[in-house]
Amino acid sequence: MAFDSLTEKLQNVFRNLRSKGRLTEDDVKEAMKEIKRALLAADVNFKVVKGFIKNVQERAIGQDVMNGLNPGQMVIKIVNEELIALMGSETTEIKLQPGSAITVIMMAGLQGAGKTTTTAKLAGKYKLKGKKPLLVACDVYRPAAIKQLQVNGEKQGVEVFSMGDSHRPADIARAALEHARKNGNNLVILDTAGRLHIDEDMMAELQEIKETVEVHQTILVIDAMTGQDAVNVAEEFNQKIGIDGVIVTKLDGDTRGGAALSVKAVTGKPILYVGMGEKLSDLEQFYPDRMASRILG
Ligand code: GDP
Repeated sequence: MAFDSLTEKLQNVFRNLRSKGRLTEDDVKEAMKEIKRALLAADVNFKVVKGFIKNVQERAIGQDVMNGLNPGQMVIKIVNEELIALMGSETTEIKLQPGSAITVIMMAGLQGAGKTTTTAKLAGKYKLKGKKPLLVACDVYRPAAIKQLQVNGEKQGVEVFSMGDSHRPADIARAALEHARKNGNNLVILDTAGRLHIDEDMMAELQEIKETVEVHQTILVIDAMTGQDAVNVAEEFNQKIGIDGVIVTKLDGDTRGGAALSVKAVTGKPILYVGMGEKLSDLEQFYPDRMASRILG
């Protein structure tokens, strides 16, 4: 699981702090240095680490902490609170349209990030909540992607709308919406094409979809395994097309986890869900406080 190494390092720092009765300013500064190293090793964005350490240190060196009964414990509490704040404090839900109105979600991301899998995972979640989702195959460049969406949609018992690979994605989205209106689908999830790198064509295509149908939520899927690159990708997508939230996949893997810790601070956009495995049930809503507890171990 991601963060294993970070957790171990933080626990060492905390053990050390707890073992001291009183804390001097130097003790706190030394601990901060170690926490900083641990976060950087976990591939957390440098600026984010700097800001985080500054916040924790300012609070930890205050009189009430250092003269308190249990200063080590207090510092740990501060680290926990600042980790939660870093990840956005509150759980963010995907905003759905009120009543029976159709919500259109556009899924975006680089190829291999886990977009198609996550699209099907998300549809399953909303089906359980009583929605009637329609998955839409807008990735017209890889026939395998259309097939994959169909197979996963079937597994989830969710309808998949496809027009093959010879139409423009924006036209497919428009037709899908027409289909949804006729068939009573109240959640339309567009699976768009990813490429290996961000390029103008990909952005133009997403833009065209947005200009053709009313997209209510644009969700970016990023791969935790790619660390800071994932965060850079998120920043660029947000600047170019505007995103409402992020899903971080593959947090179950042997990753350092830095992407999950940095993305909110860098882009200002919340993590909505995290992918914890290849199975279609392996998608978890994101709770900053629970994630902080996991990290602290
Ligand atoms: P796309 O190109 O972005 O549509 O990516 P896919 O949905 O095809 O996923 C690429 C690979 O990542 C597939 O083998 C998925 O099973 C795998 N994958 C997706 N999400 C997760 C996850 O959360 N954890 C793990 N371990 N694998 C994932």
